[in-house]
Formats: sequence, structure tokens, C-alpha cells
Amino acid sequence: MFYNQTVVHRTSYLSMLEQQQTRRIAIFGSTGSIGTQALEVIAANTDKFSAEILTAHTNEELLIEQALKFNPNMVVIADEKKYLKVKDALSSTAIKVFAGEKALEEVAAIDCYDLMLAAIVGYAGLRPTLQAIGIGKPIALANKETLVVAGDIVMRKAVESRVPVIPVDSEHSAIFQCLVGETRNKIEKIILTASGGPFLGRKPNYLVNVKREHALQHPNWSMGAKITIDSATLMNKGLEMIEAKWLFNLRPEQIRVLIHPQSIIHSMVQFEDGSIKAQMGLPDMRLPIQYSLAFPRRIPNQFPRYDFKKINTLTFEEPDIRTFRNLALAIEALNRGGNLPSVMNAANEIAVYAFLRNRINFLDMTDVVEKTMQKISFIEKPTLEEYFSSDGEARTFAADLIQL
Ligand code: NDP
Repeated sequence: MFYNQTVVHRTSYLSMLEQQQTRRIAIFGSTGSIGTQALEVIAANTDKFSAEILTAHTNEELLIEQALKFNPNMVVIADEKKYLKVKDALSSTAIKVFAGEKALEEVAAIDCYDLMLAAIVGYAGLRPTLQAIGIGKPIALANKETLVVAGDIVMRKAVESRVPVIPVDSEHSAIFQCLVGETRNKIEKIILTASGGPFLGRKPNYLVNVKREHALQHPNWSMGAKITIDSATLMNKGLEMIEAKWLFNLRPEQIRVLIHPQSIIHSMVQFEDGSIKAQMGLPDMRLPIQYSLAFPRRIPNQFPRYDFKKINTLTFEEPDIRTFRNLALAIEALNRGGNLPSVMNAANEIAVYAFLRNRINFLDMTDVVEKTMQKISFIEKPTLEEYFSSDGEARTFAADLIQL
């Protein structure tokens, strides 16, 4: 039995959800790809959901537009320089406006919402999510970096506080959906599918010349810039393996990756009798987002449906981890554990940032991650503070390497 599901099923969460008229959602990262799609889901289901908190980093224009449309209780703009502009624009409303990174944590700790959608990108999402868990708020988790950085602490806290963590990532949502009704049954392994990204089949001599614009063209999914680059390097799949370990309480050898270029099967679970369950659909993040907000219900929608006649061939192949070495590095981090995933994640965030600004080439990203993983001292059982300090050290080292 995987313990996150145990929490979901044993708490009074399900009955609480059934009783709620309108679920008040706090969207942390409302201006991003996940955040804006979540607001689409909310707009189509105003009898079921309302937007209670909206947050952005620097995109004040969109935050203001969203606030005027959805009339939340409060908004946070993490970039303090934008505070006055947001405050002025919302002065004729009752919406409370906060600014700064600390405010993200403080607002997350206010008991005014029913569920947090954790949709900030990167390490910045960790602290607000911990605050929400601390006050017992269920989490719909898109921000995979939260579990990559400190998955043991986050999940332990969630279990202690009896807080369900419902995955939003399409692969983990697929596994979660396959596990509904299977609480008594053991998982033999899970199979995370990967599209392979825009450079599937390419070799290093091609990749070395790849430009930012090519890497941002994902064949199947439309996502934020960071995850799109992570998909092109296969780091995203590595982050997902670590995310899966914590969400579903798995050993590393139970987690497999399979390239599936059509992105129709979102992932699979093989049980101990050999039976495999898969969750399928078109690649459309609104579906797992809606599932996480509405869980345990499925609600109707107008999203396009998968047509077996149009896409009638589903193919699978092994990932090429010699070429896409980020995946090999992530598997090493998964196997060794400790602070290594957190170090890897920090170096990767710096490397992706530098690549997006044309400061390093595509293959340099892997070198930065590898060198940082070799350099930062390994800690087998880090405290939360040690995770934070490992993250800081790794960022400084990686930034120095690139001379950022
Ligand atoms: P985006 O880059 O599109 O959006 C990120 C959001 O986080 C924006 O609202 C942004 O604000 C905010 N943000 C960025 N940095 C900070 C910061 N330092 N402090 C506070 N807020 C910040 O990302 P995505 O929506 O693509 O991804 C969000 C998370 O979901 C990631 O962890 C990703 O891995 C995960 N995910 C995304 C999927 C997708 O389809 N997009 C699929 C599965 C998982 P602003 O707009 O002002 O910059």
C-alpha cells in the first residue's frame, strides 16, 4: 500500500470534499502554464471551484488581469518592486495585496482556502508548500522540485499532518489514477512514459549546436520554459523518477522509464500479479489539473478526446541515457539519495537559466550538473536546513562554473 494513498483514503478528506459546495483553491504560480490552465478549469466550473489566492513572480500584468476576473481573497507578487502597481490596480476591490518571497510563505499559512495548487516552478515552490502542509491543507502538486529537493521531509510532514498530496504531473496523476481501488495490492513496478522531447534519436554531435529556440519546441506538450528544456534534456524524466519515489513510496529499482513518443499512455503500474494498468488520453494538462482539483470525483469537460482511429500506433523504446546523460545523473541521484537530488536540482536550475539566456550550450547543461554533483559534499540524511544549505552551495558552485 503506498502511503500517500493511505493518507488520502484514511483521513476525513474524502467526506470533507463531498460536503464542500465550492472548493476554494490557492494557486501558487497562477501566471504560469499550469496556473493559467487551472484558472481555465475553474472558470468552466464556478459552481465547484473558486480562486482564493493567486500568486506571481514578476508578471504583474497577468496577475492583475486574473485578480480582476476571478476576484480572489488575496494575491501575492513575489517581486516587491511590482507591489505598488498591483496595489493601485486593485485599489477599487477588496482583494488584499502582498509582496515578497516571505509573503508567499505567510499567505500559504493563512487558513482561508481548501486546497493549494503548488504550481510555482523550481525550488521557490518548496517553502510555501511546507507551510500549507503545516496547517493541514491538501496539496495538488505540480511543483516536482519540491519532492526532488526534500521529498522525505515533505512526505513525512504530509503523513504526520494527514495531508493528501495529489499529483498534477501527468505521469504521476496517471499512476495515482491507476492506484485508485488498489490499496491492498502491491506494486511490482511503475513505468513512467516519456515523449523523448524534440531531440529523440539525436546524438551529441547534433545536440551541441542546438539553440534555445529548438529546445523550446516540444512535440506534444505546451509548458513553461524550464520544464520544456528539462524535457529536451530528459532531466524532467529524472526529476519525475525521484518525485515518484516519494509520492508512491517506491524503491529506485521499481521505477522504470520508457520512451513513448505519442504521449497517449501517461504512465503505467504493474502489480505483483504481472497485470499492468495504464491511464490514457491526449496530452492535455487540463485533465490532470482538473482531476487533482476535483478528486475524488471526475467531472465532465469539453476537452478533445483521444481517437483510436487517428492515432492508432503506440510505440515504446528504451531511453538513450548515453546521449541524454542528465537522465543517468538523475538515476544516480535517485539511487544514492541524501542531498544529491537537491544538489542536482539546484545545479540544473542554474544551468537551464544560463541556457535560456544563451550563456551555455545544450550539452554544457549536463556538465554543469555533473561537476556540481561531484563537488558538493554528500550528506546521507540531511535536515531541512541542510537541504537548504546544499541548495545554496550547489547554486553558487554552478553559477561560478558558468561565470554567471
Ligand atoms: P511556468 O514557468 O510557466 O510558471 C511558473 C509560475 O511560477 C509562474 O506563475 C511564475 O510567476 C511563478 N514563479 C517563478 N519563479 C518564482 C519565484 N522565484 N517565486 C515565486 N513565484 C515564481 O512553469 P510551469 O507552469 O510550466 O510549471 C510549474 C511547475 O509545474 C514546475 O515545477 C513544473 O515542473 C511542473 N509541471 C508543469 C507542467 C506543465 O505542463 N507546464 C507539467 C507537469 C509539471 P511569473 O509568471 O510572474 O514569472
